[in-house]
Amino acid sequence: MPNPQPADVVVIGAGLAGLSAATRLTDAGLDVHVFEAAGHVGGRVTSEDLDGFVVDRGFQVFNTGYPRAADLDLPALELGFFERGAIIRVDGRAHRVVDPRRSPTGVVGTAAAPLGSLRQKVALAAYALRAGYGPVPRLLRAPETTAEAAFREAGIGNAAIDRFLRPFLAGVLLEDELTTSSRYVDLLWRSFVRGSTGLPAAGMRAIGEQLARRVGADRVHLRTEVRSVAPGSVTTEDGSWSAPAVVVATDPAAAARLLPAVEAAAPRQVTTHLHVLPESPWPVPLIVLGQAGGRLVNTAVVSDAQPRYSPDRRALVSSSTLVPTQEGEVRAEIAAAHGVSPSDLEHLTSVAVPEAQPAALPPLQLRRPVDLGDGLYVCGDHRDTPSIQGAMASGARAARAVLAAVRPAG
Ligand SMILES: Cc1cc2nc3c(=O)[nH]c(=O)nc-3n(C[C@H](O)[C@H](O)[C@H](O)COP(=O)(O)OP(=O)(O)OC[C@H]3O[C@@H](n4cnc5c(N)ncnc54)[C@H](O)[C@@H]3O)c2cc1C
Repeated sequence: MPNPQPADVVVIGAGLAGLSAATRLTDAGLDVHVFEAAGHVGGRVTSEDLDGFVVDRGFQVFNTGYPRAADLDLPALELGFFERGAIIRVDGRAHRVVDPRRSPTGVVGTAAAPLGSLRQKVALAAYALRAGYGPVPRLLRAPETTAEAAFREAGIGNAAIDRFLRPFLAGVLLEDELTTSSRYVDLLWRSFVRGSTGLPAAGMRAIGEQLARRVGADRVHLRTEVRSVAPGSVTTEDGSWSAPAVVVATDPAAAARLLPAVEAAAPRQVTTHLHVLPESPWPVPLIVLGQAGGRLVNTAVVSDAQPRYSPDRRALVSSSTLVPTQEGEVRAEIAAAHGVSPSDLEHLTSVAVPEAQPAALPPLQLRRPVDLGDGLYVCGDHRDTPSIQGAMASGARAARAVLAAVRPAG
């Protein structure tokens, strides 16, 4: 790679944090170069084509309720949506637990679902409304504890916690003890109440690809690993690049290696198995939650939400476990969740993601510093929350900090 004139900004990492920073800085007229170690943009949010199916790297969804969804051209993503809620199985029977505001047909089933007493169900609904519509400053002022303690404090009983909240949130938080910060879970629940979860027609990779197009293909240098960072310069295997502003937008572990001031939170892992069924067993796109004592955290016919994930009418099933599993160990559980025979499931592939996202234990450090001084900046999900929203929000903050430094007001 040539070593051109100094750039205004070098961004290390073309994940959603780095690309969010780079789009803003490019839009502001700065000369920005992004160095990405991998052969694709999007970082952890990526997909591949396999036998005509679109396979995301692990079960991932985009939530339109994220505030930073405003930075994307959502119509261009052609999102296909899941219904809000989930299917829980109790004693072998499937129950739909859906958002009554969106699925009037599911109201009766949801009211009758085995989620505890009427009072406990009302407590669950009241929690959802408070998180969904209460002012954010009030949510952030509420005493912080673990998610489980907060649910119990809110009067939500064991049945709703163990059958619905624990497996539903475990699929998002990648932990099933509900030790995650109640503050983060409040914010997360808010985005579920306010938005819908969907999949882009071309796979989750389309999100990063859209942002990268705005930066410019000639500005994003793939397969270019940055080995070291110093104020004013970065070093790749091809030599040094100088830039007065350097934004480290890598995953937490790489950020901690490049910048001694950064500490990497313990990562959460997930393993996802992909299967093909001759057709979907379900009338509507809904996630099926795992059951207590099982290994599955959730399983979903992703092609019900986004038909373009399948090349034909066959159904693509994505099933995840928090502990590493072999496909054969969970095939029967996946089949039972969908009410089909294990022999109906054709195994497509499996993917283990050991460093899927950082933990968000209390106390939540929502807006960790992004300006480290000396022209060094850091962003990534480890600076805000372990999510697409957190990555993009941290990228936006880093871009604002760079702009404030290169174009000081007055
Ligand atoms: C399986 C899975 C499912 C998920 N599901 C969801 C979900 O449904 N909803 C949600 O909101 N979030 C989800 N997340 C979390 C979300 O994907 C991440 O929080 C977010 O994408 C992190 O983005 P980032 O830009 O901070 O980091 P990354 O995506 O990790 O990007 C960092 C980039 O830096 C590059 N890099 C690292 N070191 C170097 C180097 N030395 N030189 C150059 N480049 C380097 C990496 O290759 C990578 O491309 C999921 C994550 C996983 C793994």
